[in-house]
Amino acid sequence: WDMFVLAFVERLFRPTYRKDDFVLGKKLGEGAFGAVYRVSLAKKPGSKEGDLVLKKATEYGAVEIWMNERVRRACASSCADFVYGFLERSSKKGGEYWLIWRFEGEATLADLMLNKDFPYNVETMILGEVQDLPKGLDRENRIIQTIMRQLLFALDGLHSTGIVHRDIKPQNIIFSEGSRAFKIIDLGAAADLRVGINYIPKEFLLDPRYAAPEQYIMSTQTPSAPSAPVATALSPVLWQMNLPDRFDIYSVGLIFLQMAFPSLRTDSSLIQFNRQLKRCGYDLAEWRKTVEHRASPELRRGFELLDLDGGIGWELLTSMVRYKARQRTSAKAALAHPYFDREGLLALSFMQ
Ligand code: ADP
Ligand code: MG
Repeated sequence: WDMFVLAFVERLFRPTYRKDDFVLGKKLGEGAFGAVYRVSLAKKPGSKEGDLVLKKATEYGAVEIWMNERVRRACASSCADFVYGFLERSSKKGGEYWLIWRFEGEATLADLMLNKDFPYNVETMILGEVQDLPKGLDRENRIIQTIMRQLLFALDGLHSTGIVHRDIKPQNIIFSEGSRAFKIIDLGAAADLRVGINYIPKEFLLDPRYAAPEQYIMSTQTPSAPSAPVATALSPVLWQMNLPDRFDIYSVGLIFLQMAFPSLRTDSSLIQFNRQLKRCGYDLAEWRKTVEHRASPELRRGFELLDLDGGIGWELLTSMVRYKARQRTSAKAALAHPYFDREGLLALSFMQ
């Protein structure tokens, strides 16, 4: 009840908007379920041009508004800053949902990763300065480490709130220039297990390039679409049993892999990697055995990066990309992994 009242009061005092308040700018993207534009407020003096983003969503718009409202209250720093969402009745048959966020920045992680200079092109963006290190594996590793920490931090926020994203990929990670950090966007395929919103997995929403092998987030034995109170009572147990959050962990693991191996950053090479990994029974160590002896210098360099500090990066990667969800690490546990802790690294190398 407290949460309900708070949400209501908060909603009451927040400005509300409608269609005519916005001036459309450049189109930023167009998917199967809607289009995204840079927009500004029509007649608000002092509002900067294009400082907002609008998504016109046909399907799943209601779910996406729900998820964004929830994130706003529970883990705001994990995702792009949500401003407002409403049903725009006049535009299409049955209307379409309009969702407004603050414009976080120009680049997604996908854009940044396709730059030849990656990860150096991100260095000053996230660290504020150039590291006092020569160019090389160590320096690249530290940048990738910072990106991974930010991704896992954002994901831990979502998961602790009870939300599984289900579409984690570089295209859905935006660099927020204001916070100097990566944030998650696009909650259109997300599931909120605590209240049973979008409870049934919509497998056709999943991106096969980054999806974990289980495809379905919840086991097929779980009851379908329970009413909200039932879901609230059951979901902590279901969460424990099925560990749906580990679906996102697999996707983040693939992003980690792509950051370490430049040759796996294109769509076609990632698809080929997925095929190879499947053939190896989703065993990364097995995959490594099959490719390492005939690896290109570029691929070998990726292994070298992950092998730094006693192979701590490789250890983290293999704890995320595993066939069985149950055996994958959680976002919270990954954040405590010695990969993120220089002191811990030393301790680990002593232990070995
Ligand atoms: P889609 O459903 O089309 O994938 P997204 O929510 O992923 O929609 O947004 C599409 C694109 O719009 C993103 O890849 C990103 O480039 C841009 N974008 C979305 N939200 C923001 C934001 N808050 N700030 C800046 N750019 C954004
Ligand atoms: Mg997207």
